[in-house]
Amino acid sequence: MDEKTRLIHAGREVAPRARTVGPAIQRGSTVLLPNSRALYEEDLGYGRAGLAAQEALREGLGELEGASSVHLYPSGLAALSGALTAVLKAGDAILVTEGAYKPTRVFCQRVLSRFGVRVEIYDARLSPDALMALVKDDTRLILLESPSSLTFEMQDVPAIAAAAKARGVLTLMDNTWAAGLYFKPLAHGVDISVQALTKYVCGHSDIFMGSAATNDRKLAAQLEAGVHDFGWAVTGDAAYDMLRGLRTLPTRLARHDETARAVAGWLSAQPQVKQVLHPALPGAPGHAIWDRDYSGASGLFGLVLNPCPLDAEHALLDALKIFGLGFSWGGFESLAIRCDPQLTSRTFVTEMAGPLFRLHIGLEQASDLIADLAAGFAAMDAAS
Ligand SMILES: *Cc1c(COP(=O)(O)O)cnc(C)c1O
Repeated sequence: MDEKTRLIHAGREVAPRARTVGPAIQRGSTVLLPNSRALYEEDLGYGRAGLAAQEALREGLGELEGASSVHLYPSGLAALSGALTAVLKAGDAILVTEGAYKPTRVFCQRVLSRFGVRVEIYDARLSPDALMALVKDDTRLILLESPSSLTFEMQDVPAIAAAAKARGVLTLMDNTWAAGLYFKPLAHGVDISVQALTKYVCGHSDIFMGSAATNDRKLAAQLEAGVHDFGWAVTGDAAYDMLRGLRTLPTRLARHDETARAVAGWLSAQPQVKQVLHPALPGAPGHAIWDRDYSGASGLFGLVLNPCPLDAEHALLDALKIFGLGFSWGGFESLAIRCDPQLTSRTFVTEMAGPLFRLHIGLEQASDLIADLAAGFAAMDAAS
């Protein structure tokens, strides 16, 4: 054969030489079939459905979620939009918590409504009874997120899921805050558990991915069809890295939790702080629900300051040296943002008693984080 042909085929039959701790990373759009009949008989005829590493990750996430079926998406937002479009159709209505991640709400209002789904945003603080009173004949699904993005209201998920089931309404929960670890949506009656793996499962702020998990066979088939119809795919490399994050999730999250509670406790005693919105702090909003249903807390919480000039808010953030200023969370590093500009899109939000901030507590030492915040407060006082 010509050299060009030999170079194209050389080395392609080399099988994995040894078992490794992680799965094989197969990079393949093309899947080679063993014979002619298999072309139309083999289930896996094309790489978009995922190969060894994606399969290993789905299995790992099934273990985490207590789910018989897990689907992967190229981002957390894609998991939410993908799961919603897989189960909703024109003529359906959806109830969406105002506490949902803002791009989720925007997707529902801007896209689902364009395809004939009636979208109603509800107050995250509604009791299960008051929420169920909003259910109409066309209501197909209730979207939950607890604690709420930014404002940290806790929803009574088990009660809402049970009441929805009794009315034949599906529930879907964005459980990114608890990372699938400290709260188990499916075990509490939720039909579809979604999370942005981008956050804690990844843990290193460098990969986008999302998952949707269920134990319902009909829903699993709908999710599967949705992934196929929209052409979602994640690479084997990304799936491998995500699985590596999953291995250390319990160990990392326990440290995020411990450090975040230490920092939150310190913050509660500071004169600049009006209220700490951390569900695991006794006396915080939603603490009773958290205490009943959660086995831990992650590193993300909110902070209401006493009223101060905007310049003082900026001075606080600009003085921080360890905390980065950035919108994501779930990684090993601490982050801080001010939130008020994001609340203007809300209808029901409680008037906060002062400026709202959000902290993500990373894996640094608590005493260093506290010293950084103390320096921030000093700069804030100087600018007030
Ligand atoms: C970040 C986030 C998402 C979206 O995840 P991406 O991977 O960034 O698309 C969804 N829900 C919540 C609660 C999030 O914090």
